[in-house]
Amino acid sequence: MTRQLLLEHINVPGINTFEVYRRMGGYSAVEKAIKTMGPEGVLEEVKTSGLRGRGGAGFPTGMKWSFLAKPEGVPRYLVCNADESEPGTFKDRYLMTYIPHLLIEGMIVSSFALGAHTSYIYVRGEMMQQIRILEQAIAEAKANGFLGKNILGSGYDLEVYVHPGAGAYICGEETALLESLEGKRGNPRIKPPFPAVSGLYNCPTVVNNVETIAATVSIINDGGAEYAKIGIGRSTGTKLISAGGNLNKPGVYEIELGLPVEEFIYSDEYCGGIANGKQLKAVVAGGSSVPILPANLILKTIEGAPRLMSYESLAEGGFVSGTMLGSGGFIAFDEDQCIVRNTWNFTRFYHHESCGQCSPCREGTGWMEKVLFSIENGQGRSSDMDLLVNVAKNIEGNTICPLGDAAAWPVASAIRHFRDEFEWHVNNPVESQSRNYGLANY
Ligand code: NAD
Ligand code: SF4
Repeated sequence: MTRQLLLEHINVPGINTFEVYRRMGGYSAVEKAIKTMGPEGVLEEVKTSGLRGRGGAGFPTGMKWSFLAKPEGVPRYLVCNADESEPGTFKDRYLMTYIPHLLIEGMIVSSFALGAHTSYIYVRGEMMQQIRILEQAIAEAKANGFLGKNILGSGYDLEVYVHPGAGAYICGEETALLESLEGKRGNPRIKPPFPAVSGLYNCPTVVNNVETIAATVSIINDGGAEYAKIGIGRSTGTKLISAGGNLNKPGVYEIELGLPVEEFIYSDEYCGGIANGKQLKAVVAGGSSVPILPANLILKTIEGAPRLMSYESLAEGGFVSGTMLGSGGFIAFDEDQCIVRNTWNFTRFYHHESCGQCSPCREGTGWMEKVLFSIENGQGRSSDMDLLVNVAKNIEGNTICPLGDAAAWPVASAIRHFRDEFEWHVNNPVESQSRNYGLANY
């Protein structure tokens, strides 16, 4: 059983309250950080831990923190990205719902390290329940002297505010989030400058995911070196995975990075295999913004070694330059799933969520959606697959924010690995149409 750093106390009755959380050792990281370590000490431990951003990009957290500009007299901000909207991803919502004080404790430790006195948690607008839970947790922490003025008599002041989004996926992109937080339309900004230099209100800002911030608590309690012992290579620590799709036991799991993918899917400790005795057909390992892989390639690397749940193992294979561990939204497709239909569904999502600033994304997602729809609906042409690959290639790398790449990868990878399925739809228009329970009226 993986050591649970984040979810250890998740089943303790009342753990959502300050009283029980504190009784289980909660807020000791704040005491340790403020009373004995100081901001530099916290930063050093986070660097030593090797913690990487858990929102999807896997960027080293300590490095991001050390990039934070510190001009004299200019405020610095910590913004927690709780706009979790990646299809297939629901681990931050789980954490905020059941153990909200872990996030608040992480916010205090991280804000202290960064020298921030005002910090924000930007929560996806649909998560009204979590917004109320977090506000309650903040009020409790404040009433007990862990937030507000002169925390623990140290002279350090911090206010944490919860800010609801309005339901746009693009506001999870860090610069769109900052625009939205400033009260503007959530359009991504061109980077550089990165938020660490010019972020909220043009001030130096660190934007971190919920899970990343929560992970700092055990790093401070146990030390960065202990954290770094967990995991594999540069993928240190534990990771929350939201497992969904055709699995026997979907849910949120805390795994040690480096766990074999096969064990994660088939062992009873985790997903318990594919539902209804079916065969695994494909997996999207890190939310819909990463390529879709057929079963043989998700279980083993091209060289035949077991594929691991780590940033490196899931990036290896020359599919994408980044990582396929992404946000940890693990979606399994069984043998009955139609890859064309699922790819169309993802593309429909990206088309709907594109902010429209860049032509390749705005127009390309729309074209891909239309072409995929006609293939799925028995009206495709044999040239459509090459057309789709061409459009995807013209989007990738040519846009302001990663939404364009995210829209292109599933399409390109689905055609690369499941071309025969696309061709079946083109060659069997009548059967293709008849499978589409009501889709023709879409
Ligand atoms: P990114 O690689 O552009 O940046 C990662 C982080 O590092 C950012 O905070 C960026 O500001 C910082 N950074 C990078 N280089 C820097 C530098 N030179 N100086 C200072 N800071 C620097 O990726 P991203 O746009 O943050 O995230 C993309 C990922 O988000 C995708 O891979 C996708 O998996 C994921 N995603 C997650 C969700 C979700 O709901 N969790 C939703 C959509 C996308
Ligand atoms: Fe907007 Fe798409 Fe451009 Fe991102 S890539 S800025 S979502 S148009």
